[in-house]
Amino acid sequence: MRILITGAAGFLGSHLCTRLIKDGHQVIGMDNFVTGNPDNLAHLAGEPGFQFIRHDVSDFIFVPGKVDAVMHFASPASPNPDSPYGYTNLPIQTMKAGALGTHNTLGVAHAHRARYLLASTSEIYGDPLEHPQSESYWGHVDPIGVRSVYDEAKRFAEALTMAYHRYHGVDTRIVRIFNTYGPNMRLDDGRVVPNLIQQALRHEPLTVYGDGQQTRSFCYVSDLIEGIVRLLLSDEHDPVNIGNPQETTILEFAKTINEIAGNPAGIVFKPASRLGDDPQRRRPDITRAKKILQWEPKITLEEGIRLTIPYFKEKMGLA
Ligand code: NAD
Ligand code: UDP
Repeated sequence: MRILITGAAGFLGSHLCTRLIKDGHQVIGMDNFVTGNPDNLAHLAGEPGFQFIRHDVSDFIFVPGKVDAVMHFASPASPNPDSPYGYTNLPIQTMKAGALGTHNTLGVAHAHRARYLLASTSEIYGDPLEHPQSESYWGHVDPIGVRSVYDEAKRFAEALTMAYHRYHGVDTRIVRIFNTYGPNMRLDDGRVVPNLIQQALRHEPLTVYGDGQQTRSFCYVSDLIEGIVRLLLSDEHDPVNIGNPQETTILEFAKTINEIAGNPAGIVFKPASRLGDDPQRRRPDITRAKKILQWEPKITLEEGIRLTIPYFKEKMGLA
């Protein structure tokens, strides 16, 4: 296939490009570098099957030649207001990438009769009242909360994707991605994994927001990419959760990182209020992914952290 991947220079987009090139596809990567990094794609520069277009997906998209699949991953993805790359500091860009970017990429898929995959998120469940979250849960989102620029853009994107499927017959898929981590994450985007791993490697106390009793379920990137590729190749049109159901409190998570990195500096608690609607519990129900895609994650949290640390060491000049 000839596949357009938006958000190609980001964390997940760059892994997707690498995987799909390895699988023998042709890939057109698209990005405007608002949160991404061209270094993530440097290794693909000489690949005959890889092409890059610098473009903002909020503007009309023209792709020369035939496109067989479109994967829309372009969007800021970190909630952290302390980082200039957090979506709370890029609120309009985030809403445009989710709304106009989804419209434009669906337009490409429609025009080319290409298959389409939307990168959605567990954030569409908001601060969930059902636990774990299955795809049938409608969510609990504050439409004007701090995170709403991301959550509501993604909810709009899902609705628009289903509209193109139902009204125009576009061959769409929706993946609801739960917290994923690994190499190629931006060091300064403020998400919990880059923040805590770098603090641990610098032997500083790890910053835990609130009392650290909020939970997340972290998936290693290779597991996530495998699930997404299987979904792309499937004929499933309804949303599918992809994530690792191994749930941990943020406090336990911080302790695990300190242990693995051998950091004696401990933990410091920071106020949670700036994050307002920080979801208290999050864990994917992956029954559908198991059944439809014969997929489940293989890498444990401890293994994944060990696989991720060398990337941060290298980027921090500690390797
Ligand atoms: P990222 O910030 O590393 O990557 C996003 C990429 O999109 C960046 O390269 C950025 O420059 C690009 N981009 C943003 N707006 C753009 C625009 N208007 N035009 C062109 N390019 C644009 O984030 P990520 O973690 O790789 O997330 C990728 C996708 O996966 C996002 O849609 C995000 O919502 C979704 N997602 C990620 C996670 C996760 O845990 N990593 C969880 C849920 C959903
Ligand atoms: N968090 C934290 N310390 C940090 C960064 C984040 O305790 O330095 C918390 C944050 O409040 C949230 C969780 O870790 O409860 C995951 O945050 P992240 O920004 O990675 O993404 P989210 O899952 O909230 O979108």
